[in-house]
Amino acid sequence: MSVFCRIDDKYVPLYRILWVSAVPHFCGSEDCQREGQYEVRLEQDETIWATADEQAAALRTIESWHGEEQDDPLDEGD
Ligand SMILES: [Zn+2]
Repeated sequence: MSVFCRIDDKYVPLYRILWVSAVPHFCGSEDCQREGQYEVRLEQDETIWATADEQAAALRTIESWHGEEQDDPLDEGD
């Protein structure tokens, strides 16, 4: 599977994502361009902004990516 997810018209490598906001941005500023978008924090103090759809897709992709990596030997033969 791809190790990229598409956020804000960029293909972002999943391993660069530190965290994804669970709630949409709200700061009360009248000229805020990011209201209703979800903050996605990358390494090196980089922040990008996802729509609700992109946030959900990113989380799904990250979960299945981790699921693929976790080949848990403790689960076998139990
Ligand atoms: Zn704002």
